[in-house]
Amino acid sequence: MIRYKFEDRLPRLEIGTIADADLEGSATTLHLKTGDGEESLPVIVRRNSSKITLTCHAGWGDVRQTIYLTQTPCHFGGSRAWFLCPLCDRRCGILYLTKQFGCRRCSKLRYASQYESPRERMRRRLIKIRKLIGPDLVIGHPLNPPPKGMSVKRWHELADEYAALRKLYFREGEKPCAWREDAPTARDWKQKVRTAMEQADEARRPRRRKPPSRTPRRPPASPAPGAAPQAR
Ligand SMILES: [Zn+2]
Repeated sequence: MIRYKFEDRLPRLEIGTIADADLEGSATTLHLKTGDGEESLPVIVRRNSSKITLTCHAGWGDVRQTIYLTQTPCHFGGSRAWFLCPLCDRRCGILYLTKQFGCRRCSKLRYASQYESPRERMRRRLIKIRKLIGPDLVIGHPLNPPPKGMSVKRWHELADEYAALRKLYFREGEKPCAWREDAPTARDWKQKVRTAMEQADEARRPRRRKPPSRTPRRPPASPAPGAAPQAR
């Protein structure tokens, strides 16, 4: 059985950090962060033209690896730097530290969100919308008017989605067991939210009365000059 690790929780080294820092010749200490931006692990980096040597002391022992760098030309001039993964030799922009440094594929990584239950996903979406249009992060609180730069139409879309999702989220919360058989899938609740949003949009639209149909009256066809009058 393959055990997947979560990408957000591993120390990572991004190519931008290497490209920006002036590393040529001397050893520099960089602090690795996780995807959540939390922990940091000091790593000594030595750069030697097209390769770097990484040395760090991780919990399971010392890691010392040489990573080759490569460049590809950009469309509008200049070039972009990449790591060559030490395990599979493919280009990558981020190296993750598991037992050793490797690309996302070699490290067998998954996003933490891929393991969330539908209810957790709903909650994450609710919090995300609140950050955009709410005064704070409390899910039950009222919303703020559109922030600067957001169109009224977009605000209404988000507010409708929020209202529909909040209703579903609280209804889910009333059912004690998250792993019951009829628990909704992500597709279920997304469809329900979409339907509720369409209904809200329909209700908001101003109802226009149909203008009374006016068919222009045609003037009675005048008989052609010289034609005999029709008998009735
Ligand atoms: Zn790899």
